[in-house]
Amino acid sequence: MKHNQYKSWILNDQPLTSKQKKELQGHLETCSQCKKFYLTWLSTRQLLSSSHLQAPSPGFSNRWKNYLPFQQERERARHIRTTLASLIMIGLLANLIYILRNNLLLNWIAAGLNTITKLFVILTKGLSNFSQLLNQTPTIPISVGIVFLGVLLAFLIVFIFTTWRWLSKEYHADEIIVED
Ligand SMILES: [Zn+2]
Repeated sequence: MKHNQYKSWILNDQPLTSKQKKELQGHLETCSQCKKFYLTWLSTRQLLSSSHLQAPSPGFSNRWKNYLPFQQERERARHIRTTLASLIMIGLLANLIYILRNNLLLNWIAAGLNTITKLFVILTKGLSNFSQLLNQTPTIPISVGIVFLGVLLAFLIVFIFTTWRWLSKEYHADEIIVED
């Protein structure tokens, strides 16, 4: 019997007769091609039934036969995603160049430092007023405020460093795609 007959038996949703089962098992032991087909079908069936939807229903094998075009469709979708990602990265790179050219990054850092300083002043004043209410010397709250500023600055530096590294990574990723 031809391989295709056994393959259609493998895909068949209807149960086989015991004679057919024996014949199929005998063939699978000797034919690596059909054995491979059988194992692929088993794992695909398992994967599909465990990942989504439900247990295999009638017509399952027909859907499985359509699995290859579906895969090609997925491949196409992946390609579109890659293209879009490249375009977005090029856009980000253009933005980065624009930012660096116009020293916007420095302006942002300056503005950020300014805001933090203002916040620090407000916080210190608030703490100072609070301590005065408690008849305490303002030295302790101010030193606490200075520690706060130090922590805030450390966070800012880490943030800038992380952002910078992220932007550099984007740049390198873009470079690889261009080379590709
Ligand atoms: Zn075979």
